[in-house]
Amino acid sequence: MRITHTIWRRILGLLPGEIASNETGWLLSPHQHMPLLQQRRALMLVNRVRLFSLLFALLTPLWIVVDVMTLPSGLWQMLATMRVLATIAFVGLVLWCPQDGQLSGAYRGMTLLFAIPTLFYIGSHLLMTQYHLEGVSAAIGTGYAFLPFVLLAAFSIFPLTLIENLAFATPVLLAYAIAWALDWSVASWPSFGGEFWLLSLLASVSSLASISQLAFIIALVGQTIRDPLTTAFSRRSGIEMLELQLVNAERNQMPLAIAFIDLDHFKSINDAFGHAAGDKTLKQLVQKTLACMRRGDVLVRWGGEEFLLLMPNTDMIQARLALDRLRQQGLGLRPDGTPLTASIGLAERLADKCNHRRQLVEIADARMYQAKQQGRDRVVSD
Ligand code: GH3
Ligand code: MG
Ligand code: MG
Repeated sequence: MRITHTIWRRILGLLPGEIASNETGWLLSPHQHMPLLQQRRALMLVNRVRLFSLLFALLTPLWIVVDVMTLPSGLWQMLATMRVLATIAFVGLVLWCPQDGQLSGAYRGMTLLFAIPTLFYIGSHLLMTQYHLEGVSAAIGTGYAFLPFVLLAAFSIFPLTLIENLAFATPVLLAYAIAWALDWSVASWPSFGGEFWLLSLLASVSSLASISQLAFIIALVGQTIRDPLTTAFSRRSGIEMLELQLVNAERNQMPLAIAFIDLDHFKSINDAFGHAAGDKTLKQLVQKTLACMRRGDVLVRWGGEEFLLLMPNTDMIQARLALDRLRQQGLGLRPDGTPLTASIGLAERLADKCNHRRQLVEIADARMYQAKQQGRDRVVSD
């Protein structure tokens, strides 16, 4: 156990240092990825699918000229037909591939991107075996056998988890094996074995490159989405997350509550004890709040001493209970030892019949203002 642990730590040491130990599982499977990372990655994957499709859409028909000049007419005619079909499919992929930030769309795009050349490879391999090519024709024919190598090398530009790499690379390797099996002879076994070994090596190296890309993205997203002082989510990422959560809540007909939290008389902490003491109080508040929240809840630093708490699948009553619990537990202490308090405005998308991000925040903000007017240290929800 100690040895595996040491090896694992060593491997992780090769990855960007900013990756937290609880995030290393994210390199293996996408299930635990937070929505913002999922969305960014989905967009990147789709962009790369479109880039590759465009490249293939341009190069696939161009190669017809080479085929015409070097291959027998029956063969190049069949290949040209297949090339035209593949080009149409690639153009379709460039135009169709949706940029909606959904991982399912990105998976579909990648599947098609790899399926088109894989089918083309099997088809062209079967065609080639019917001809006995020599000289330049044989050289061009051999070029077709490189397609799986190109495909597996392409994985290195996609930021993927280990499981995703396996899921996409295995069909390409299988297709290669199937193409050989369809044209099997005992003499071809050593050649197949050697090439399959090389392909597997290439797949492993590409997967490593792909996973290390993902590690960089996780580290970068982690840095940019959080407020450096308190580690709560920054306002910009908070806006993105609220928008995503509103879409999800609407799709699943679920409630979504948001609490606008403004600390009471915070300026006087700075005035009496200095800015550093104010900073410490803010950090303490975030720790106290995080400790009290549910797993899916999101705490956003909206402004100086203003926070937004997003509570998915939580109706008004449950949200009030959660906030009462938080206030009972305490938001921390002011430097003079008295309890830190906050005025909180609560809004919920179903109760307030509002599914618009900006309006929902405005409702919560207005209620926070009411809480201030009513004497601070309270929650207002209507
Ligand atoms: P109220 O109860 O009406 O909300 O009073 P308040 O003093 O909390 O509100 P006000 O808006 O007058 O002041 C907010 C203060 O928060 C002003 C600013 O100096 C302080 N502040 C904002 N950001 C930071 C920060 O990052 N660190 C520190 N120490 N103070 C901050
Ligand atoms: Mg304020
Ligand atoms: Mg305040």
